[in-house]
Amino acid sequence: MKKTSFSSSKIDLWKQCELKFYAHVLLGIRPKNNFSRDPKVQLGSILHKFFHEFYKDQSQTNLFKQNIKSLRNLEEEFCTAWDDISKSLDYGNDTDAKTQQFFYQEKGLKALKNFYKREEKRGFKQPVFLEKWFKLSFDEFSLTGRVDRIDREEDGSISIVDYKITDKILSVEDAKGDNQLTIYSIACLQSLLNEKAQKLILYYPTQDEEIISYRNDSSIEELLLKLKQINSHIEQHGLQQDKYNTNPADWKCSSCGFQKQCPEFNERKKLTPGQTSDLKEKIDRHKELQNLINFLNTESNQLESEIITSMKQNKITKFENYKLTQSENTSQ
Ligand code: SF4
Repeated sequence: MKKTSFSSSKIDLWKQCELKFYAHVLLGIRPKNNFSRDPKVQLGSILHKFFHEFYKDQSQTNLFKQNIKSLRNLEEEFCTAWDDISKSLDYGNDTDAKTQQFFYQEKGLKALKNFYKREEKRGFKQPVFLEKWFKLSFDEFSLTGRVDRIDREEDGSISIVDYKITDKILSVEDAKGDNQLTIYSIACLQSLLNEKAQKLILYYPTQDEEIISYRNDSSIEELLLKLKQINSHIEQHGLQQDKYNTNPADWKCSSCGFQKQCPEFNERKKLTPGQTSDLKEKIDRHKELQNLINFLNTESNQLESEIITSMKQNKITKFENYKLTQSENTSQ
């Protein structure tokens, strides 16, 4: 069997639903989303392109600073690019397309302005890498990806930047567990620069927010261990569909290309939305109660063992309902 090539999106897919991973990654079934007409996705990809090209075409010669594009110039180019693509996008059925086009254009302009001001503050310093692809080979699997940008800071340290064009900003705590950033830090250390990145930055240009996170050896080892486990599951079970667990939820299933073949999805279709939410409530409550029972059982067993020990130590064989068994009695 060929080595599995992992990326952060494939790892996220595995976390979402193993069967979805099986379908999309192992069988190569295409997802259901139509990203090419999604305004959010398209805005993100245009902005990534602009951020990339802002530096890509600039030479690293001394002339660089005289050749910097003005913000106005950038904004005009962005409006033209957005105008070209925005008419063909899908804004949903009941929204006024023109209002939505304008809304996204304003969002894009805001992101562009924030990006420009950020770069200005940094002295328009040329990044070390832009949109850099990497492939890391391990014994059992490989790891691929593309990092938006790597900067060398004034103090000589390395920062990795990932642009995020989303409304929701990840918390610092969640950023610590972000697989994509961990993979970038491995790539920087083991391949791209052979240096450890000091900071991993999620930059949200629309909100002009930076979430900074760090990685140590243990977070890197933890991810590699997880990948080894997923890889050995794949090696062991190959294409046996029933060995991949389902983990349905509306947001996961709606983009899944395996709906028709998925037993869980088809069973769920037999229920009305009301029955589904009623069942979900009951399942959640059942899980809560099971957890509580487990917790109480653990505490009860612990107490029982303490009572027995105390009875043995005090050389008594009966106390209220507690009686030492023959073997407990003889083990005193
Ligand atoms: S339809 Fe839902 S449960 Fe089934 S494989 Fe896809 S994501 Fe998983």
